[in-house]
Amino acid sequence: MAASTLKIEPQSALGILWCRRCGAIHHNKRWRIQDLVALPPNPPFAAHETLCPGCERVENGFYSGELILEGKTTNLTLDAVKELVAEVEDKCWRDNPASRVCSVTEDKTGRIQILTTTEWLAIRISKEIQKVHNGELDTEWSKTDQFVTIRWYRPRK
Ligand SMILES: [Zn+2]
Repeated sequence: MAASTLKIEPQSALGILWCRRCGAIHHNKRWRIQDLVALPPNPPFAAHETLCPGCERVENGFYSGELILEGKTTNLTLDAVKELVAEVEDKCWRDNPASRVCSVTEDKTGRIQILTTTEWLAIRISKEIQKVHNGELDTEWSKTDQFVTIRWYRPRK
């Protein structure tokens, strides 16, 4: 990941910051999302360019949650997972701007890995997957770091 060439500016006179990665706006001490899908190429008004707390973690490759989906089914395609993940991320981000999804990837065996910037977001996504697709969850907390690994799988019948 390319290091940021822009240094993080202090808040402008207008008190507005703009996240160049997701288009979020910081104003009145709060980060607000505009639209996760349609990213504006430029802030719509004078604002200082920066990264929101979640995007800063993503760009630095800092993650605290890992969710592994095993035993894929026809309903649980990579696209379906990405859609569900985006919905949960959108909700969580509003409560905690540090919560972001770093990546959603599938390996050759059909195992899907989701990396998140907060443990909380990985847990929320795992619960949503379980709610929609049933299955079992194994949650393992790291004793040393702030890190959670969750495995979702379908029990063999
Ligand atoms: Zn952002």
